[in-house]
Amino acid sequence: MAYRKVDKKGKITIPVEIRKSYDIRYGDRLKVEFKGKNIRLSNSVDCCALCGCKAMLLRFGKKYICEICRRKIIASKHADYLEFINTE
Ligand SMILES: [Zn+2]
Repeated sequence: MAYRKVDKKGKITIPVEIRKSYDIRYGDRLKVEFKGKNIRLSNSVDCCALCGCKAMLLRFGKKYICEICRRKIIASKHADYLEFINTE
């Protein structure tokens, strides 16, 4: 169990060990659900890890990418991944 302080903007930091175990990375979208007095965070598997699109998803390791992003990656002939994201 880990306790985290909520900052002025309502943000909390997810402990690094939890981020590693659940493969949560910078820019990931997490689903937030409220159940009674509990708040549940879960990896959102229903959107593209690159653009957030929810259509035509394909598994890419532990994440999903959409068909459009897959085609862009292929068209780039495996160009630098970070460069690809910055052009979105
Ligand atoms: Zn996409």
